[in-house]
Amino acid sequence: MSIIKLQDLYFKPYINKEKITTIVKYLAKSVKADLPKDEIPIFVGILNGCFLFAADFIREFNGDCEVSFVKLASYEGTSSSDNVKHLVGINEDLTGRTVIILEDIIDTGATLQEIYNIFKDKNVKQLRVATLFFKPDVFKKELPIDYIGQSIEDKFIVGYGLDYNGLGRNYPEIYQLSTTPKMKNIVLFGPPGAGKGTQAEFLKEMYNLVHISTGDVFRFNIKNKTALGILAKKYMDEGNLVPDEVTINMLKTEVEKNADSNGFIFDGFPRTESQAAALDTFLAEKGEQINGMVALEVPEDILVTRLLERGKTSGRADDTDESKIRNRFNEYNTKTAVLKDYFQAQNKYYGINGVGSIEEITQRITTVFDTL
Ligand code: AMP
Repeated sequence: MSIIKLQDLYFKPYINKEKITTIVKYLAKSVKADLPKDEIPIFVGILNGCFLFAADFIREFNGDCEVSFVKLASYEGTSSSDNVKHLVGINEDLTGRTVIILEDIIDTGATLQEIYNIFKDKNVKQLRVATLFFKPDVFKKELPIDYIGQSIEDKFIVGYGLDYNGLGRNYPEIYQLSTTPKMKNIVLFGPPGAGKGTQAEFLKEMYNLVHISTGDVFRFNIKNKTALGILAKKYMDEGNLVPDEVTINMLKTEVEKNADSNGFIFDGFPRTESQAAALDTFLAEKGEQINGMVALEVPEDILVTRLLERGKTSGRADDTDESKIRNRFNEYNTKTAVLKDYFQAQNKYYGINGVGSIEEITQRITTVFDTL
């Protein structure tokens, strides 16, 4: 999950799909458990916000029931009763029925108050209220709420039926209002030897960003014989990827060390789809995002020549042996190259010709960086 933008505002992930499903199941089960065996309830959803919740709830309820939807509307015209609301859409005779109101969210309780007022003279057998979310800090009424899915803090939320200015209802998760992202975060992408490290050295100065090369961090740990280094070495020497969990945790630590920076150039990370998803989620929790993936595109034969050349001076075991180099390309082609699609799907992929002089390539990258 990434942050989303709706008109002028940014929202960050708050409650994921799985958690929503758990809450809805719990509500449906609780409501069912309280009903007499042969009672056929009538569920009344309060539009618009509840339509997704109501649809999922009814499927989970798993029993005979009737379903209706209503809208709360103000009377139009010039009457003095500006604040009087009425329900649009109730046509059923509710006499003697068990009515269960389905609400997406109850905050101050103003809407709930209207609902209680309106149902007061409908001669129902009983009226119960089930709400997906509840904001205890702002609820001002003395009204019963029979079933609460989850209490949440008093922050504006959207998604799963809830909107901001009409937008956001279509998201399957819940997002919470966030601040405007402050960072510029770039993934510098490309196969081994494409020139990511070289270019990052220039770019970090030009844009005042922190450069994180996971390869460099691993090599630093190997040099200092840390536990992480000892673990990583056996993978790196063979040209294999270090396991995701190890790499992701290390990356997070590096980001946390520079929490106040203007942003990051990620070099050599993400290298797998699960690393990319972890990075998205991790940044989103901070109200930040990846602005773009800038990819250096270089043909493989040129890369092998470059790496062997670098191997003469770099002291890197994985640069000197052609079979290790081939294995790194194999890792790249089977696990990493797919990230192009991952970022393209988010409209964040920028391919750059990585063949030319260092200065020429820097120039091409800055043209893209400036737009991100
Ligand atoms: P690099 O300096 O980026 O070429 O990385 C050198 C080696 O470090 C790779 O061949 C991997 O063994 C390891 N490595 C660096 N970054 C990652 C990553 N994101 N995921 C897994 N392994 C990595």
